[in-house]
Amino acid sequence: MIGTLDPNRKSVTIIGAGVSGLLAGYALKKQGYQVRIFEQSSRAGGLIETKTTLQGPAESAAHSLMVNPEVEAVLCDLGVEMYGVNPGSHARYIYRKGKMRRFPLTFFEAIQTLIRIFSKPARPIDPESASLAEWCRTYVGDAALKYLLAPFVTGVFAASPEELLLSAAFPRLVPEFPEKSLVGNFLSKRKSKSAPKAEPPRMMAPRFGMTDLIAKLRSKLATEIEYGRKLESLPDSNVVLAIPAPDLATLLDANDPMAARALREIEYSPLITCTVFIRSDSFTKNPPRGVGVLIPRDEGLRILGVLFNSSAFPERTKTPEMHSYTVMLGGTSDPKALELSDLQIREIIETELKTLFHLRAPSDAIEITRWKKAIPVYSGKVREAREALKRTLCSRPGTMVFTNYSKDVSIRGMILALKGF
Ligand SMILES: Cc1cc2nc3c(=O)[nH]c(=O)nc-3n(C[C@H](O)[C@H](O)[C@H](O)COP(=O)(O)OP(=O)(O)OC[C@H]3O[C@@H](n4cnc5c(N)ncnc54)[C@H](O)[C@@H]3O)c2cc1C
Repeated sequence: MIGTLDPNRKSVTIIGAGVSGLLAGYALKKQGYQVRIFEQSSRAGGLIETKTTLQGPAESAAHSLMVNPEVEAVLCDLGVEMYGVNPGSHARYIYRKGKMRRFPLTFFEAIQTLIRIFSKPARPIDPESASLAEWCRTYVGDAALKYLLAPFVTGVFAASPEELLLSAAFPRLVPEFPEKSLVGNFLSKRKSKSAPKAEPPRMMAPRFGMTDLIAKLRSKLATEIEYGRKLESLPDSNVVLAIPAPDLATLLDANDPMAARALREIEYSPLITCTVFIRSDSFTKNPPRGVGVLIPRDEGLRILGVLFNSSAFPERTKTPEMHSYTVMLGGTSDPKALELSDLQIREIIETELKTLFHLRAPSDAIEITRWKKAIPVYSGKVREAREALKRTLCSRPGTMVFTNYSKDVSIRGMILALKGF
């Protein structure tokens, strides 16, 4: 989050009732603040919505979150029932040379990667200005960049590692000693920090879909949310701004043109998410088990990845003979995908899922959601906008920005940041 509240005032206005605005309202109300939330639309949740279909739930955006004990405590307090990944379904795949593989590198590439992570770099990176791709090429190698990091990053940001600023997107990867190897940095960090080892987070999903998180937050803020209230100018402090960068830029045009310009520069990846339902008898082999598959570019498929919803989590379909998948299409590498008609999207998905899963018949149903501006691309532009907000709008206590470009794009990151209020 950017900025601080004025501790002398015990009331706060929050703009935006997406998950970040609701989380802010929940945390601040608990601290005794009198909270008001203004939401321009007629519903809370913003990007997040679980649609109900005849075949099962279909998420429009986020489908799961990484949960550690701190996040679990918040979800528990809210009363959100969570499921962990089904036993035996933890596998994650990368598609390469026509097959889904748990380890996509060749023997030779694996050896090269091992050598690289133990070797001092020939040319260390500048940790502040390096892209994620430069970091990976320097400390891990080209094969890992292409077949491990790039598909993973596409799955999270729908953008490429070349576009992401290391220090903005993955600050924990910034090497403390750029001249040392990756392993050297890891060992130095371990020596200098004697903190107890934290439990690794687990992937979990709400039993009743992501909408349940929104519903539980909403119920804690039943009288505080005002719908159909589009803010046209900034209210007095205290205010928490939890709205996308272009909307905040519009609010700031008159009073803060510098911050408005910087916010407008933030790019968003375009993305299509499709929940696809397929019957058991459409598979010529067993349906795939695991969390999902990511598709590197240049492997002959247009889709970016597939989440295996019903393999990973229970209750994702109405009947056991139905299987649910979420397919992602578009991203910064394929913005034209957003112009495709529903029919064209359906054709691409069916053709490519047939290749991927060896299907004999097409899917039963597809639920399509298009996002022209899905996820902020964590490039240098995000850092510049944050700096501009710190220098201007948020320079004095009373105004905060708390949303998915202020620090962390994930819901887990937002929950962890609540202690900053
Ligand atoms: C396809 C996709 C998949 C994702 N998957 C995951 C995932 O699996 N796990 C995860 O952790 N994260 C995931 N994310 C990221 C996460 O969902 C988002 O970062 C998060 O939902 C953003 O929430 P927000 O509240 O910051 O913004 P938004 O959801 O955009 O909410 C902003 C709200 O502000 C309102 N608003 C805007 N302007 C005004 C105004 N002037 N006055 C009043 N109201 C206004 C809008 O109507 C909206 O309701 C995913 C994102 C996408 C797009």
